[in-house]
Amino acid sequence: MIGPPGNVCVRCRFDVRDGWAGCPFAIPKRSRPGLGTGVLGATGPFERVGPMESSSAQHVNTRTGHVVVIGGGIAGLAAAHRLLDTGVRVTLLEATDRLGGKLRTGEIAGAPVDLGAESMLARRPEAVELAEAVGLGALFRPPTATNASVWTRGALRPLPKGHVMGVPGDPAALAGLLSAEGLARIAREDELPPAEVGDDVSVGGHVASRLGREVVDRLVEPLLGGVYAGDAYRLSMRAAVPQLFDAVRTHDSLLAAVRHLQAKTAANPGTGAVFAGIEGGVGLLPGAVADAVRAGGGDILLETPVLGLGRASDGWRVRTEGGVLAADGVILATPAWSASVLLAEEAPAAAAVLADVEYASMALITMAFRHDDLAGAVPGGSGFLVPPVDGRTIKAATFSTRKWGWVADAAPGLFVLRTSVGRYGEEEQLQREDEELVDVSLTDLGEAFGLAARPVATEVTRWTDGLPQYAVGHPDRVLRIREAVAALPGLRVCGAAYDGVGIPACVASARRAADEIIATSTLARGTGRGAGE
Ligand SMILES: Cc1cc2nc3c(=O)[nH]c(=O)nc-3n(C[C@H](O)[C@H](O)[C@H](O)COP(=O)(O)OP(=O)(O)OC[C@H]3O[C@@H](n4cnc5c(N)ncnc54)[C@H](O)[C@@H]3O)c2cc1C
Repeated sequence: MIGPPGNVCVRCRFDVRDGWAGCPFAIPKRSRPGLGTGVLGATGPFERVGPMESSSAQHVNTRTGHVVVIGGGIAGLAAAHRLLDTGVRVTLLEATDRLGGKLRTGEIAGAPVDLGAESMLARRPEAVELAEAVGLGALFRPPTATNASVWTRGALRPLPKGHVMGVPGDPAALAGLLSAEGLARIAREDELPPAEVGDDVSVGGHVASRLGREVVDRLVEPLLGGVYAGDAYRLSMRAAVPQLFDAVRTHDSLLAAVRHLQAKTAANPGTGAVFAGIEGGVGLLPGAVADAVRAGGGDILLETPVLGLGRASDGWRVRTEGGVLAADGVILATPAWSASVLLAEEAPAAAAVLADVEYASMALITMAFRHDDLAGAVPGGSGFLVPPVDGRTIKAATFSTRKWGWVADAAPGLFVLRTSVGRYGEEEQLQREDEELVDVSLTDLGEAFGLAARPVATEVTRWTDGLPQYAVGHPDRVLRIREAVAALPGLRVCGAAYDGVGIPACVASARRAADEIIATSTLARGTGRGAGE
C-alpha cells in the first residue's frame, strides 16, 4: 500500500471504514495529518496553545535552540541523545505508550526475551558506542551458538561458511544444499561475459543471472528474508549488500567479486564477535538511552502522535493533540509512511518518494518448552532459515536458549525458541489468530526435526510494517529525499527507511541527522524557544 489513504489510520494502517474502535492509536479522522485542507488543517497556520505536560517541566534550561525529535524508536532516541551532547534543548515525541519501536523486551514463562530485534552487528561501532555511553557496555554478550542451518530439500543442512549474503565464493561448499544441476550451473559462470550492473541491480536478479536461480532460492532469499523479510528479486543490491555491489562493479564475475571480499576479510578479520546481544535483551537499549536523555535535561512525551508539521517565520511548528510546539529544528525519525504524511505540505517532493517505500509485515512466535518434554529433539546450533521455495509457513526458527546464555540462565528448566512468519507480500499470514500462528509453527517444527512437545507458554508479537523494503534504486531515492529535506533549514530525517535497517545503521543515520541539524544556521543562532512557550 502506498502511503496512508483516507480510510486507514496513519500509524497502524488499521482500516477505519467501520470506525476507530479497533485502532490502537485512534487518532480521530478530523485531526489526522494529510487530510482536509492539508497538514496544517482547516484552521490555518499553527497556533500556539498552552504548555504541554512534560516530565521535566521544572527543568531550568539555560541552553539555546530547541529541537523536536519525532519518533521514539532507536533512531529518534539516538538522535535525541546526540543532540543533548551539543547543548541544545530536546523534546522527543512518541506516538505510542512505549519507547523503542522495533526493539522490545518481554517475558516468557518468567524468562526475559527480546520480542523484536535481538542482536546488533558489533563490527560496526555506532550501536556499541551508544550502548556503552548509556551504561550497557558491561552487558554485551556474544551469541553462545552461531552455527545455523537451512531447512531445505527435506532436511536441515548446515549453512555454509564463507558466503556474502548467501552468495558463495566456493561452490563446493553448497553441496547438498543445491542439486547437482544447481552446482553445475554455478560452475558455468566462467563462460558468461562480464556483467553490467549500472547504478543498481536487484540482488536476486543479478545472482540468478550469474550463478543460477537455485543459489537465490535456497541461500540468498532466506538470508535476505532474515534481515529484510524481503523479496530478493526486488531488493536493491546497492542498498542491501553495498560491499558486494562495489565489488561486482570492479570484477568480471560474481564469484571473483565474492572471493575478493573474502580475501579482504581474511586479511583484516577484526576482533571480537561479529554480533552481540545485551543481557536481558537488546530491547533494554531504548530505555537506557531514554534515561540518559532525561538525565541530560531532554523531555520525552509518550502517547503524543505528531499530527502536523509546518514552517513559521522563526522556525518550525509541530502539532499534536495536546498543543503546538515551537522548534528551531525538527528530526523526523518515523517510518517512511509517517514521514511522508508529515512532510506532505512542506517537502512534497520528499513526501512523494517516501510514500513509495513499501514495508513487509511479520510475526514472531516465542515459545517455551519444558526441557524434559523435548527429549533431545532440538538439533544443535542457533536455529535455521527456511527458503520460501520450500513452501513452509515459517521463515526461520531461532533457538534462543542456545543462542543467548542469559535466556538459558534465566530459565534453566525451559527451552525457549522463536519462529518468524511473514515476508514481503505475505500480509495474509498476519491475519491468522495467535493460536493458529502457534499451531502452524509447531507443525513446521515437527516436520523439520520431529518436535512433538507442546509449549508451556507462548507469546505472539506482530510487527505490522516492520521492515522497509529497499527496492532497486533505493539509494538514489534516499538522496532525493535528503536533498529535498535539507533544502528546508533545520529539518532532517533518520531511521530504518534510509541507509540500512540494522540497529547500527539506524543509530548512524540518527547521528548524521543530529550533527547536520546542529550545523544549520537557524540553530546556531540559538533562539532558545521551548515547548509551549
Ligand atoms: C521483527 C524484527 C526483528 C528485527 N531484528 C533485528 C536484529 O536482530 N538486529 C538488527 O540490527 N535489526 C533488527 N531489526 C531491524 C531494526 O530493529 C529496525 O530497523 C530499527 O529498530 C528501526 O528503528 P527506527 O527508530 O528507525 O524505527 P522504529 O523502531 O519503527 O521507530 C519509529 C517510532 O516512530 C513512532 N512514530 C511513527 N509516527 C509517529 C508520529 N506521527 N508521531 C510520533 N511518533 C511516531 C513509532 O511509534 C515508533 O516508535 C528487526 C526488525 C523487526 C521488525
